[in-house]
Amino acid sequence: MAQIDDLPPLRDVIAAHGLAAKKSLGQNFLLDLNLTSRIARSAGSLEDCTVLEIGPGPGGLTRALLAAGARKVVAIEKDDRCLPALAEISSHYPGRLEVIEGDALRLDPVALTGGGKVRIAANLPYNVGTQLLINWITTPDWPPFWSSLTLMFQKEVGDRITADPGSKAYGRLGVLAGWRCKGGKLFDISPKAFTPPPKVTSAVVHLTPNPTPLPCDLAALEKITAAAFGQRRKMLRASLKALSPDAEELIQKAGLSPTARAEEIDIAGFVSLASTFGDAKAL
Ligand code: SAM
Repeated sequence: MAQIDDLPPLRDVIAAHGLAAKKSLGQNFLLDLNLTSRIARSAGSLEDCTVLEIGPGPGGLTRALLAAGARKVVAIEKDDRCLPALAEISSHYPGRLEVIEGDALRLDPVALTGGGKVRIAANLPYNVGTQLLINWITTPDWPPFWSSLTLMFQKEVGDRITADPGSKAYGRLGVLAGWRCKGGKLFDISPKAFTPPPKVTSAVVHLTPNPTPLPCDLAALEKITAAAFGQRRKMLRASLKALSPDAEELIQKAGLSPTARAEEIDIAGFVSLASTFGDAKAL
């Protein structure tokens, strides 16, 4: 196994600090340094940026990011049991690791990273991963505060983020991510690579902001996709009826077939629906 620094092996760190994994915090630790290094490399060049890491746990990915040359890592961890282990990494890389104890859902990532180029890299806790991603891709300002997201999710969530129209996984998340971001899935990771092993395969996704997404009001896009995919088996004329009694006419005005179903509509189609329904004050 690769040696990336002079710190003790992660298994010893976990034993020394009594970090028995807590299911409630989505704790599945990645101890394979080849994999943590691969994720860190996938994030792109790190020398010139601050890396925001959510959920460093015992610090496997944190160490890989620092060994890969990250100028600074700001890591938010909810479990205070992990802080002593992370303090040891901080001492090994003076001035380059700032650990913040707290809930990433409640903290302001912009204030914590303090301007400059920011990349986000994380092996996300499954219970809050999707919400964090949605927060990052729905920032009111676009381009956003981050230059890239390199994130590990359950494979099924990774598939939804990167799904193409027509596929089963295509839905609200795929439309939002596809509208505002470029990128895709990089590789899968077997449950066996984690301690304890989760029930499902994981996947690493890399996204960068699309600098020129099709002009569209975010709230309108969210409402139209919620209505359309809320009843994904129905034709649009039925699923969008609740938004306007003139749904059929508006769908035609948007250049789409009222008998099409949500999963057949590409991102440009949803943008068109959002503007047409928005202009008609139906959203
Ligand atoms: N980065 C480590 C690794 O790759 O082995 C740990 C990943 S583990 C899947 C998820 C981590 O997120 C755990 O350390 C957990 O305590 C932490 N966590 C869970 N919910 C959190 C939250 N709301 N805010 C910040 N950290 C959280």
